[in-house]
Amino acid sequence: MKQKQNSFSLKYDTEWEYAPAPESTAHIELKPKYDLFIGGKFLAPKSKKYFKTINPANEKVLAEVAEAGTEDVNDAVSAARKAFPKWSSMPAKERGKYLFRIARLIQERAREFSVIESMDGGKPIRESRDIDIPLAAAHFFYYAGWADKLEYAFPNRKVEPLGVAAQIIPWNFPLLMAAWKIAPALACGNCVVLKPAETTPLTALKLAELIQESGLPVGVVNIITGDGKTGAALVEHPDVDKIAFTGSTEVGKLIQKSIAGTNKKATLELGGKGANIIFEDAPIDQAVEGIINGIFFNQGHVCCAGSRLFVQESIKTVVEQKLKARLETLIVGDPLDKNTDIGAINSKQQLETIKNYLKIGKEEGLESFQVKSSIPKKGFFCQPTLFFDVAQSSRLVQEEIFGPVLTIQTFRTVDEVIEKANNTPYGLSAGVWTDKGSKAFNLSSRLKAGVVWANTFNKFDPTSPFGGYKESGFGREGGLHGLEAYLK
Ligand code: ADP
Repeated sequence: MKQKQNSFSLKYDTEWEYAPAPESTAHIELKPKYDLFIGGKFLAPKSKKYFKTINPANEKVLAEVAEAGTEDVNDAVSAARKAFPKWSSMPAKERGKYLFRIARLIQERAREFSVIESMDGGKPIRESRDIDIPLAAAHFFYYAGWADKLEYAFPNRKVEPLGVAAQIIPWNFPLLMAAWKIAPALACGNCVVLKPAETTPLTALKLAELIQESGLPVGVVNIITGDGKTGAALVEHPDVDKIAFTGSTEVGKLIQKSIAGTNKKATLELGGKGANIIFEDAPIDQAVEGIINGIFFNQGHVCCAGSRLFVQESIKTVVEQKLKARLETLIVGDPLDKNTDIGAINSKQQLETIKNYLKIGKEEGLESFQVKSSIPKKGFFCQPTLFFDVAQSSRLVQEEIFGPVLTIQTFRTVDEVIEKANNTPYGLSAGVWTDKGSKAFNLSSRLKAGVVWANTFNKFDPTSPFGGYKESGFGREGGLHGLEAYLK
């Protein structure tokens, strides 16, 4: 792949060619057809329906996956309810041992999980290998450690699990989101029914196989596949005590309506439109890397992506030039190639959504920048795109795009950037780049965002709570806070 010299010749000497470095798929095992994991067994769906899951990088079918209907949802919830008395009364350190075992098994099979994650979801293998899968294992390790220490986590309180948790996850971090949901729930003594997203069910189903292997008591974890209808049936099921949902704000609102007036507890982690703020005293080169990572990590399919860039006016020209230069060096292509920076867009539907926003940008008359190099013809790919001098009122600034699209705005003063950054219905994440600790602390308390990163972006750790303000949802996952959501 030939990398072009950028027109600014600022820094990046990229006159070399990368040899392809594809990760092998020979070691992975995928069945042609996957059933539902209920009560410790793989069962054919009573709905008798299956759907296909495809590789978004080449549009080839990877496997057929069961579509759980209402009866199947009933069976999964019953299996979880049946397992609850024994699981919740088991000595906590025994529960912890199962979680440790699941964590170790994920580590042992990390390579297989990474390849399947990239094939099913389109994310670069470097990311699934170095971030998604190790972090998923880390979440199980972390919550395994808490299982027998809940009384220290919540001193002077008698902690009790909630019961059966319905957990619905999105397609952007499939295994990692499964770990975020399952690990704290189990550590607290709950049983779960998990529904992965319809475009990325495979690593959750592999996790089901691994859970079977771990000897976890049957029914403690049930994994059912299907689309929004399956999710809605699970949310509405009367014997569910808790809903944990990560996904769009639109579906989050539907879920809230559906559980209004019931005793179901809920945590919702929804959309975002993160502000990434670069002050003139910031280390510029690091900040440029942070901007790139903030928006192009996982093709921008990240609810906490830094999709709104705010640059202090005095450094606008240099930051924009460096960004363009850096964009020229990004490799868009085969997710399984270890050189790839930006993989495939998760689905055709998502690609259309992103293209529609690119069109809106054009209609709004915005100046944009894309690298001219070609992208693969087959599969769903999108060139990373910058939009300059975007107004606060632009739809590109106000709406979540969930793709590799960055809007750039400028500011002069701290107060101005805080006002602009907070002027959004969302409040999930923000980043601040500055040399001054005092400035970072000032902003971190005044930005209405669940997470504020200083001189970094998109950093995740199981010990650190994560969650939103406003339309980005409520409740926290990760850290001690993540346990609280699964306890009475
Ligand atoms: P995204 O924008 O990430 O596709 P969605 O909110 O549509 O977000 O999907 C996230 C998860 O929610 C998926 O597992 C999806 O199947 C599920 N889902 C979609 N609609 C509903 C619904 N009405 N009730 C419950 N779950 C749903």
